[in-house]
Amino acid sequence: MRIGNGYDFHRLVAGRRLVLGGVEIPYHLGLLGHSDADLLTHAITDALLGAACLGDIGQHFPPGDPQWKDVSSLLLLEKVCTLVRERGLAVGNVDAVVVAERPKLAPHIPKIRQSLAGVLGLPLDRLSVKATTQEGLGPIGEGQAMACYAVVLLEEAA
Ligand code: MG
Repeated sequence: MRIGNGYDFHRLVAGRRLVLGGVEIPYHLGLLGHSDADLLTHAITDALLGAACLGDIGQHFPPGDPQWKDVSSLLLLEKVCTLVRERGLAVGNVDAVVVAERPKLAPHIPKIRQSLAGVLGLPLDRLSVKATTQEGLGPIGEGQAMACYAVVLLEEAA
């Protein structure tokens, strides 16, 4: 078994869509980034790369590379899943926590889990997404940014 962890942080700005786990969430601000800035998907992707010892998301998908501009981060996750499988590894389970003051994410979590489980080829009971706030403190608490932490377990494929 192998464990990997991933972390991501993006600013919230006007004029961008808010996409988490491939699901668009209605909100007046969105995450700033080169791709769709889906920090939940980025954190999980980085955790997968970490568990497989394959470097990090920035190495595989350099920010500024025009082919990743505004692309759905689910595509990046899918590519990394293929790399992981090619290494003879299979995803055991995923647990992620999104740190965001607003909007309330709880109503969107079922759809987000379904979206990510579909890409990862995992049953829902192996894909956990949680949300928490920063108690109003710091840039996240003031609604200027979001962060995400993820851990992934990989197993040698049978
Ligand atoms: Mg990112």
